[in-house]
Amino acid sequence: MSFMNRSATQRSSASPYVRQPPPRSCSPPSARTMIVCVLFLVIVASMTMVLYFLPGCIFSKTGCPKQENKTSNGTDDELFPWAQYQLPRSIRPLSYDLTLSPNLSTMTFSGHTVINMFVLHNTKRIVLHSAHLNITKAAFKLGDGEPSDVTILENKPMEQIAVKLSAELKAGQHCVLTLDYSASLSHTYNGFYNSSYIDLEGNKRVLAATQFEPFYARKAFPCFDEPSFKATFLVKINRKPEHMALSNMPKAKTTHLSSDLLQDEFAKASVNMSTYLVAFVIGNFAAVSKNVSDTLVSVYSVPQKKDHTKYALDTAAKLLEFYNDFFEIDYPLQKLGRLCHCIPPPPPSIKDPTVILFSSLSDLIAIPDFLAGAMENWGLLTFRESNLLVGEHSSLVEKQDVASVIAHELAHQWFGNYVTMSWWSDLWLNEGFATYMQFISLQILLPQLDMGNLFLEVRFRALDQDALNSTHAVSTGVNTSEQVQEMFDSVSYKKGASILLMLNASLPGDQQFRKGIIQYLKQFSGLNTDTDDLWNSLTEVEVSSQSPNVSEMMRSWTFQKGFPLVTVSRKGDEVTLKQEIFQLTVDSSTYSSSLWTIPVTYVNDSCGLAPECRQVFMLKTKSGTLKVPETVKWLKLNYRSTGFYIVDYGNEGWAALADALSNDFQALTQEDRASLIHDIFALSKLGRVSFRQVLSLLNYMTNETEASPIREALLQLNHIYQMLHKRYEQGLCARMKRYILNQYGALMDNQTWDMEESVSKQYLRFALLETACDLGQDKCKQHAESMFKQYVESNGTFQIPGDLQRVVFRVAAQSTEDWETLLTMYHYATYDTEKKNMIQGLASTQDAQKIVWLLNVCLNGKIIKAQYLPLLFRTICQNFAGNLIAWDFVQVNWNQITQTFPIGSFSFQSIINAVTFQFSAESHFNQVQWFFSSVRESGSQLRSAREALETIRLNQRWMERNLPSLRKWL
Ligand SMILES: [Zn+2]
Repeated sequence: MSFMNRSATQRSSASPYVRQPPPRSCSPPSARTMIVCVLFLVIVASMTMVLYFLPGCIFSKTGCPKQENKTSNGTDDELFPWAQYQLPRSIRPLSYDLTLSPNLSTMTFSGHTVINMFVLHNTKRIVLHSAHLNITKAAFKLGDGEPSDVTILENKPMEQIAVKLSAELKAGQHCVLTLDYSASLSHTYNGFYNSSYIDLEGNKRVLAATQFEPFYARKAFPCFDEPSFKATFLVKINRKPEHMALSNMPKAKTTHLSSDLLQDEFAKASVNMSTYLVAFVIGNFAAVSKNVSDTLVSVYSVPQKKDHTKYALDTAAKLLEFYNDFFEIDYPLQKLGRLCHCIPPPPPSIKDPTVILFSSLSDLIAIPDFLAGAMENWGLLTFRESNLLVGEHSSLVEKQDVASVIAHELAHQWFGNYVTMSWWSDLWLNEGFATYMQFISLQILLPQLDMGNLFLEVRFRALDQDALNSTHAVSTGVNTSEQVQEMFDSVSYKKGASILLMLNASLPGDQQFRKGIIQYLKQFSGLNTDTDDLWNSLTEVEVSSQSPNVSEMMRSWTFQKGFPLVTVSRKGDEVTLKQEIFQLTVDSSTYSSSLWTIPVTYVNDSCGLAPECRQVFMLKTKSGTLKVPETVKWLKLNYRSTGFYIVDYGNEGWAALADALSNDFQALTQEDRASLIHDIFALSKLGRVSFRQVLSLLNYMTNETEASPIREALLQLNHIYQMLHKRYEQGLCARMKRYILNQYGALMDNQTWDMEESVSKQYLRFALLETACDLGQDKCKQHAESMFKQYVESNGTFQIPGDLQRVVFRVAAQSTEDWETLLTMYHYATYDTEKKNMIQGLASTQDAQKIVWLLNVCLNGKIIKAQYLPLLFRTICQNFAGNLIAWDFVQVNWNQITQTFPIGSFSFQSIINAVTFQFSAESHFNQVQWFFSSVRESGSQLRSAREALETIRLNQRWMERNLPSLRKWL
């Protein structure tokens, strides 16, 4: 799964401005409406809070029933025979035969599931998963015997069912369970859920899609819903003639069940797969296709967006070939025999028009309602529209997004789908690797997308998150649904990718890492693994005596939390390196005991740029020494920031580096310059360097021209500005603003507003111009205002360059009239990427009434799809009033928010982080602490809650420590 939630970077579009009738009539709220709405909200909020903190059963005569493991479906009050979160291991499913009949009018479905199983150990119970399914019939058959009806017991809180058996099953026996059931299509974004869009004629079209990771297959069919229970699947979907159906495998045949109902049967998968990778989609779609080495690659979208699938198709085709070659294993979803693949929609009364022989198939489909960025379902990759569809005029930055997500999901077809983690505690094996491969594959395949800068930023953000005491080890035990959800975070994705880069960079030659990966995939083909399996495979292919022991080194990075701070001290020609944990909130249990095997790399002033300059020192103990000539003026560790650690050079070391940058900043690579800026801000949070030292390092920046160092400096300075702003430090805000405009004003003024071809220049100008306009720089605002005017008056013929749309819309939204124009244009905009930029514009308003209105329409999925809520929160919280409104809104609407965005999930984490990360006052700390300790779902145990509280304390500490220096030095 991937989450393209890079809110700190520019996401924009230059999609053609196509007019279509507005989907729904709507007008911005009048003041009166808003007052009524706000009053209503307050009343509802008060009542919700009262009801919320009462026990749920207070109004029942019998009081609260005991919840624990009682049956709901059994004939009597029998105890459910299993009380653990993970299923027993005595039974293994071999194959599933699934028939699903969705009804897109009533938004319900019925299902028929046949599970063939093998008994591994003698047992009296079969326990599997089922959630929100109404099981109407259950039959059990042992070996070649006759099927007989059985009773099903259910444990609803655990989402488990058990078959009541009369006799013990013996190891080695085969058995079959058949279940009939019905359920509603989900109104959330998981399980078997409904979605809709408005077609070009203004009609509402409905469809049904699936999202099963991590544990929602059980909402579509009863199953052993854990990644290690791999099986084969035969899927049959009943549908109306006007719809089409897609699933993991190609369609094998279509049968007429009645004049109004067809059944599509998909080929039985030739490989075992985990339940979370099963997928099906039913609706109206159009496709473009291409053959790549006997794999048919198709990209699907709703029919009116078919023209925007070409880039995705070309990119997916290139990437598929790349991965076939890179992993030396062809796309691993082989099809057996001769099958037809029908380019949809096939006329119902005619035989399938196209019969093509392909050995496998890969479909990519854009779903109008989709919460994650994309999902790697085997053979049927699902995407949010903005992550798959781009237009002819789209900017390279937009294409970079699309290519990144496709590269990520296709890498999963090997890493995740073919070889799968045994349990969610090793989710990083899927996500860290797919994230790493998305950068590596595109750097080679499409260098014009400039993925290097993006990967560098990913590493910086991973370090920031991992510096908190509330972080976790890359591989860590998880035993509740919330904990499983919480694994989809920065550590699994970004840190996972970062430590793979560090490992690859520390191995001699460029093939050892790849050879180890190929060996791992071949050794565990079709199986489940854990972290040690990967390290052992990579250790086995060591080819040189200089190679580090991979297993020994990497275990220190995956089984303990956090990362090291390396401190440097010099005496003559001797350099002493020391390591300790970099922890912003000191925790004595990890502070002294943590130890990493660190491949420390370094360059110096005699040779600082080329890869040949790089020297390596393995730091395995608490401290170590190395020699450098006494004439060396400065040392820079962590060459090009490929290592996952932060370096403190001490006062003299930092001063030497600041001098070096002032004299000739190009003596260091741009990655090294950016990493110095990142590290010195991180050390200032730790209290190791003063703010004066930070400013001293930044002095050289009036000469800087590259995107990475400038973006990093602006990000850090903007964060401080925002915190000051939210503490009413108006005097300091004005000084900070003046400082930023003085330092970067010339660069801001030099940026063009025309179409720009280079990704790094787009990144650079976006960061500079957004900061300039946000800080109210006249020139920037005037430019943005006139560009918006031209855009509105041109009636769709004038394009705002994709990377600048957000800057322009944010400025426009500050005037009431233009805000309303933007809202009207939002209704007419066809493409998700354009709408996304407009939402960020609309959400930049300072008007409290408009902010509340936006949050409400988005939460309810009216006018703005609910999938945008995390983005809306992130944008709204950038302004002072918005942050407080957003925090109140989260508290009041907690129930509805957590129904749409499951507790612990990535979107949930994103919302909590957005509304709390800029607080730095004691009153806010107390409010956040009170709220999380009062919510039912053990709120204070949630990692997001612990992170939020820790971040507020750290902000508070930074402010107390640095306010005097800010007053003095700004
Ligand atoms: Zn993923």
